Amino acid sequence: MSVHEPTQVVVLGGGYTAVWAARALARGLRRRLRDGSVRVTVVSSSTTHAFHGWTGEVLSGHVRGERARTALVDLVPAAWVLHGCATALDTVTRTVAVTTDEGVRLLPYHHLLVATGSRDARERVPGLAEHGWSLKDDGGLDALVGRLDGGAGPAVVVGGGLAGTEAAVAMAARLRREDPEARVVLVHGGDRVLPELRPRFERVARYALEQAGRAGVDVRCGARVVRVDDGVVVLDDGSTIPAGTVVSAVGQRVVTLPGLAADRAADGRLVTDRLLRTSIDGVWAGGDGAAVPQPNGSGPCPPNALWALKAGTRVGRNIARTVRGRPARAFRFPGLGQAASLGVGRGAAELYGVQLTGWAAWLTRWVFFHAFMPSRRVALAAMGDWLVLGLRTLGGRRAVAHATRGAVSNTGTLDAAV
Ligand SMILES: Cc1cc2nc3c(=O)[nH]c(=O)nc-3n(C[C@H](O)[C@H](O)[C@H](O)COP(=O)(O)OP(=O)(O)OC[C@H]3O[C@@H](n4cnc5c(N)ncnc54)[C@H](O)[C@@H]3O)c2cc1C
Repeated sequence: MSVHEPTQVVVLGGGYTAVWAARALARGLRRRLRDGSVRVTVVSSSTTHAFHGWTGEVLSGHVRGERARTALVDLVPAAWVLHGCATALDTVTRTVAVTTDEGVRLLPYHHLLVATGSRDARERVPGLAEHGWSLKDDGGLDALVGRLDGGAGPAVVVGGGLAGTEAAVAMAARLRREDPEARVVLVHGGDRVLPELRPRFERVARYALEQAGRAGVDVRCGARVVRVDDGVVVLDDGSTIPAGTVVSAVGQRVVTLPGLAADRAADGRLVTDRLLRTSIDGVWAGGDGAAVPQPNGSGPCPPNALWALKAGTRVGRNIARTVRGRPARAFRFPGLGQAASLGVGRGAAELYGVQLTGWAAWLTRWVFFHAFMPSRRVALAAMGDWLVLGLRTLGGRRAVAHATRGAVSNTGTLDAAV
């Protein structure tokens, strides 16, 4: 690259880290982007940003699938969005190879942000990739909703972390609207579900488990799935569970990029310093695919959306500062907490270490999630959906109250109304 050519910043990924980084770059390099001395390219294998926080609500039917997906070109207007998969990296010539529908493109870079995140680790259980459904794969959630509506048969969720428990409850809510006897089994290899919350947030974990039972989810702990065959899940004690639909919630695996020989943690995450730099010059990282030190020194940041988007903002600002000849700054986000929804009004959350359940947790999560959606327009549309849902529920309750002439005045829940 000649010195007269624009400074090339290439962002790999279209998730939280990439979008928030591209926005910070747009703010920090506004003038240079306008005069053409800097170019920001976002390379993503998906054309949309997925807001995974609404996974449960999309499964239950409370939030439409399109509210959880936003076109990348609308989110990062100052960047050139290239739809393709980064398949190789040469850190000596500073070039990344991107496979697109039109062939392979070689992109030169001065600064490269690796924000390719993680993917469902379905290969951990034999047969799960062939017969299981993903909550994270591109288009996976919409396909699963179609499956549930098209007659899912008994459903089994493999993995009892927050994502798996939330998905099982949401699926039960959707299926039981049509068939009150519909069966959802949550299989967890450990002694107790929701390991992310234990032992510190035991009360929240107990509440979530109680809600799962109430929703009709059959929770099986201490049972490892050894194989998934067509229509059946096989456990390590030799027993089987009939399964028309098997959903993977076994955890995530870091997406690795061939040619990137940077320092990695044991789980494959790229090790960064507090400025979000990897061990390779000009290569930065953040999000699920990076082991970023927590400001309080308690190990790497957990792989969740809030950490990813905060790291994205910091790394975007740091690249912009470096381009402007200013020193990069340390990542200082202290964390906020974690939350799940087990149905409307049934939240389970931990906020700055304070345990919340029920409506308090549900509303807190609802407010934060709308605030952190990447598009104001889509967030407003999602709020509109909730408003319609609330009005329909109230309307439904009034009709029930009228029909029973006050004998039973509170028979419906928001869940049952949709
Ligand atoms: C079902 C589910 C529910 C969740 N719920 C919550 C929640 O409620 N709250 C919370 O905080 N977190 C939640 N998470 C976790 C959260 O989604 C992740 O921590 C977050 O997505 C990480 O963001 P990221 O930017 O690092 O990567 P990702 O979101 O994984 O994005 C990676 C991006 O890179 C792209 N990509 C991958 N490989 C390539 C390549 N080779 N070339 C080009 N592009 C590539 C992908 O298409 C994707 O756009 C949930 C996760 C799942 C799976």
